[in-house]
Parts: sequence; C-alpha cells; structure tokens
Amino acid sequence: MLSNSDLVELTAFRRNLHRYPEISGEEEQTAKTIVKALDKLKLTKVLTGLGGHGVAAVFDSGADGPTVLFRAELDALPIQELSDNDWVSQMDGKGHLCGHDGHMTMLLALGRMLSREPIAKGRVVLMFQPAEEDGSGARAVVADPAFQEIKPDWAFAIHNEPGRPFGYVSTRTGLINCASQGLQIRLTGKTAHAASPEDGVSPTLAVSKLIPALSALGTGGTLDDGFRLVTVTHVNVGEPTFGIAPADAVIYATLRTAHDGPMSVIHDDACNLAKTIADEFGLKVEFETFDDFAASINDEEATNVAVSAMNAIGVPNGNEGLPMRASEDFGVFGWDAKAAMLCLGSGENYAALHNPDYDFHDDLIPVGASIFERIARDLLG
Ligand SMILES: [Zn+2]
Ligand SMILES: [Zn+2]
Repeated sequence: MLSNSDLVELTAFRRNLHRYPEISGEEEQTAKTIVKALDKLKLTKVLTGLGGHGVAAVFDSGADGPTVLFRAELDALPIQELSDNDWVSQMDGKGHLCGHDGHMTMLLALGRMLSREPIAKGRVVLMFQPAEEDGSGARAVVADPAFQEIKPDWAFAIHNEPGRPFGYVSTRTGLINCASQGLQIRLTGKTAHAASPEDGVSPTLAVSKLIPALSALGTGGTLDDGFRLVTVTHVNVGEPTFGIAPADAVIYATLRTAHDGPMSVIHDDACNLAKTIADEFGLKVEFETFDDFAASINDEEATNVAVSAMNAIGVPNGNEGLPMRASEDFGVFGWDAKAAMLCLGSGENYAALHNPDYDFHDDLIPVGASIFERIARDLLG
C-alpha cells in the first residue's frame, strides 16, 4: 500500500522530473535522478547505461521463479510546453508531454511497495528505458549484452491515455500499436538559371508526381491485418528564391502497417516508386530510415494475467479504442517474453499526448503502481 506521504513525495518527484525534460538519447540527468531515487529501495542490483541511458533495478527474491519486467520511459519531447503550473518545463523547447515522467514515478511507487513487502519467488525488474519517442530505445536495451542478465519471462507496461475515462484501462490480446517508420527520400538534380530551367535537372515535377503516388500506397481505413497508411509529413524543394531552378528536394513519409512483416513490403514499394519516378526525370535518389517502431502485440497469457489482476483490485477495464494507429516501441520486449501493454485513461476531456498543454495526471500514479503490484504478486507472491 502507498501511504499519503508516499503520494505527496511521489507527486513532488514526478513534478521535478517534469521540470527537467530530456529528449530521446539525451536522458543522462534523468537517469541519474532515477538512480538516486532507487537508493531508497531494497534492491538487489541496479544496472545503468543499458542501450544508452537505460536503468534497470532488480528485486531478486533469491528463490527460483520467473523474471517479471515493468517498463517506463525516460525521454521527453522536443516541444515547447505551454503551462501555468509551477512545475512547467525549465528546458527551452523541450517538454514531458507524453507522461513518461508519470510512468517513471509509477515504477518508483511499485518499488516502494516491493521494498516493504518483498516478492516470494523470482525477480522483478523495474526497467527505465531510454529513447522511446524515436523508436530506438527498446531495441537498444534488448540488444545490450547486459540485458541478458535480466532477460524477462514476462513484461508489462502502462501508458496513460487522455480521451479515455479516468482510471479505466483498455487492453486486449493481439495488436495494440501499429508498426511505423519514417522514410526520407532525397532527390538530386542540377540547378539552372530560372530563365533557362531546361539547362538544369529540377526535381519539382518528380515531387509533384511522387506525393500523391506515395499517399496512394497506403490509404488507411479499417485497422485490420492488411492496414497500410502512408502520410507525407514534410516536403522541401530548392531554396526560397526566384532566380534559381532547384536541384534538390526532400520528402518525408511516415509508413504505417499493422505488423512488422508488411512494413518491409511497404518500405520497398515506396522506395521502388521513388526510384521509378526519379529515373523518369533523370534525378539521383537516396533513402534514409528514421523512427523505426516495431508493432506492439499483446501476448494472450500476459493479457489474461493483467486483466485478472485489474479485476482483483477493482480497476475497470475493457478493450475499447484498440488497436491504435499510433506506435510505441514496447513491442520489442514482447519478442522474447510474454508481454502486455495497458492503456490507462487520464480522463475524457484531457489534453492529448504530445500537445503543448498536456501534463501527466498525478492521480494515476497509485492506480498504475497498484496494477503492477498485483501482477507481481500474482506471478511471484
Ligand atoms: Zn509520446
Ligand atoms: Zn509515450
């Protein structure tokens, strides 16, 4: 159980994290703050530098049993926060606008409960992963040789979800979050005087042909197994001048599918399309991939464990609003463990994630921590 003074301290801790957001890959001070907070817990071991700035805190019962991992994220977003709260971001152009400050605090709350009443068997790992927002962190953590030491049998995560009733959890077996990938297409020709564009090789017509063609590769619709969506998010051609016919263009397209296999298919389709159009206009074409998120898919057994834990402690739950088109890199932990992601409602009329006026709802700290604790007790005593 968390006491009132726990909640006061944990809320203050969350707000302090909120003041000093660090973006993906730069979470050095946040990791240090977490390590310092872990000092107060009865841990067997703390691993640092996992897949970047990742931190893993281990409670080992000493008795045989499974390893259960609970995951939170360290990173914030490159967005300027708009807030009158006295815990508003102190870092220009950066904000904890996805609630990862709250998720970290939930894990510390769980750590307090497990310190007071240790698990009877197996191990609990509190995993503070870096770089969730660009899709690189979970992969880097799992690929880190040090991760072998804490390799979980079960993995669970909670993400707060504005727009859903406060304290209500949505989850289901199967797809939760789509796979997505950022594809950068760079076209290169040759500049010319704007009076004689025929002397150069301009990418302008290729771009105007490529935008609708890319969009047509994936038109969205129902989120079933065949779901494909291509969203052109950025286009730049030449320089803002009237005297030069341009030589360069760049297009950003976000590719989205329901599963990881179809992602490589749509990626190839987009690249082949761009190559064909580039050839037609005598342009050189180059590709680069960013923000590569695997699909997040809940294991049936792990989902059942989570649902029965929530039912046991009276947390209302269902499967509304799932799966989601948005991506989340937690799915990587499910490649080699029974994993489930839970979407915890922040309230129906609540600023959306990644909005400049979003802030984590502190009253979710004990809700999330209690769900995690009950899962840990059900699996490990
Ligand atoms: Zn986010
Ligand atoms: Zn998030």
